[in-house]
Amino acid sequence: MTSVALTIAGSDSGGGAGIQADLKTFQELGVFGTSALTAVTAQNTLGVHGVYPLNASEVEKQICAVMDDFPVTAVKTGMLFSAEIIREVVRTLKYYQAPALIIDPVMIAKGGASLLQNEAVKALKEELLPLAAIITPNIPEAELLAGMKIETAMDIEKAAELLLEAGADAVVMKGGHLDNQEFAEDLFMSASGKKFKLRSERIHTKDTHGTGCTFSAAITASVAKGKRMEEAVRIAKDYIHVAIKEGLHLGKGHGPTNHWA
Ligand code: PLP
Repeated sequence: MTSVALTIAGSDSGGGAGIQADLKTFQELGVFGTSALTAVTAQNTLGVHGVYPLNASEVEKQICAVMDDFPVTAVKTGMLFSAEIIREVVRTLKYYQAPALIIDPVMIAKGGASLLQNEAVKALKEELLPLAAIITPNIPEAELLAGMKIETAMDIEKAAELLLEAGADAVVMKGGHLDNQEFAEDLFMSASGKKFKLRSERIHTKDTHGTGCTFSAAITASVAKGKRMEEAVRIAKDYIHVAIKEGLHLGKGHGPTNHWA
């Protein structure tokens, strides 16, 4: 049977991040991708040149259209932009008793553009996070969600524990923003007590646009196919490692990850 996943996220006109990255990842991993757009961005490899959010009711209509018709087995959220959109997404997913939810807490693009309003962080943490099968923050996102500075491996664990206490079933803390020249190391922890690190050699490249979206979409695809979360995270780590290693030198800025690698 064909597995179906839904991504609730923003559009990147440059095709490297957001909905576009999610759908490409779903496709490569053999999952039929559906989407609910939260915002349109005018964007390329040089940065975000405009952000145009949809109304919360327009987001809700799209989710309903998908959920009423398709056997969705995993849902992913990416850029949600505002507290209003987050609340509508929460309400709608609860109504459908939506399957496994993978949250990529997208906040700020690499170039510095805000993809989540400051006042929406609280709604994301208090209202959406309790629905999460897993949340996939990078270090700056984890700092904002956990309300603490993260500098050491112990800090990473402490912040992961706080996110589990806030209601997520599992968390994968992406260590790529830490200043380690040799490795990119992520930490997986679950509320059920599982804990392991995922380590890969660090790839020194500027072509990393859309890596976060691609990683969480790869987790979503495997979960949609029925894989256990630990296995889904390991598959996603392998997928993103190769996608960065073979990154595409497209555009004048940060090129996108490579989904054909
Ligand atoms: N644009 C959209 C719509 C996104 O969802 C994301 C993902 O986080 C980004 C841009 C940021 O991409 P990056 O920071 O990898 O350049």
